[in-house]
Amino acid sequence: MSAYQPDEFEGVPTDAAADLAGVPDAFQRLWTPHRLVYIQHGQQPDEHSCPFCRAPGMSDEQSLIVARGTHAFVLLNLYPYNSGHLLVCPYRHVATYDEATPEEVAEIGELTQIAMRVVKQISKCDGFNIGMNQGRIAGAGIAEHLHQHIVPRWALDSNFFPIIAGTKALPRLLGEVRQEIAEAWPA
Ligand SMILES: [Zn+2]
Repeated sequence: MSAYQPDEFEGVPTDAAADLAGVPDAFQRLWTPHRLVYIQHGQQPDEHSCPFCRAPGMSDEQSLIVARGTHAFVLLNLYPYNSGHLLVCPYRHVATYDEATPEEVAEIGELTQIAMRVVKQISKCDGFNIGMNQGRIAGAGIAEHLHQHIVPRWALDSNFFPIIAGTKALPRLLGEVRQEIAEAWPA
C-alpha cells in the first residue's frame, strides 16, 4: 500500500495548501484517518458505560477480578484506599442493596466472608472497613451499580499524605495483589 498522502484525503491540492493558515511547531503529524472508524462505530470503550458490567466480559487479569461466583463477583478496586481493597458486585446492573435478589444478597455475603479470610491470611491485616455507599450523595463513585467495599486496615496505615497532597501511598502494584488473592482463593 502506498504511503498516505494528506491531499488525497482532504481533497486539498498540495500546492494550494501553501495558502492555508498555520503555526509551525516542533511536532511531526501522524495522520490516521483509518482510526476514525473506531470512533464512529463505537468500537472505542465508551467512557460512560458501566465498568462493573464490562469487567466480567474481560479476562481476570484485565479486569482485576479475583473470583467469579454465580450471581456476584469480586475484583480489586482500581482506585484503592489500601492495598487489597476489594469490591463485591452482583453481575446485574442494580443500583441499591434493596434491589438485589435474595440469591445475590446471599452470595455477596458469602464472597465478602471468603475475601476477608483470604486477605487476612495473605496480608496479616489488623481489621477491615466493609460497606456500601448507596447513591452519589452517600459517596458512591459508581452509583449505578451496587458494590460492596472491603478495605483491609493495618495499625498506622493512615498518614498525612491524603490530607496534604490528596495522595495515597500504595506499596504494591494491582496486578501483583490480584494474582496473590486469586491464587489464595479457595476453589
Ligand atoms: Zn453495571
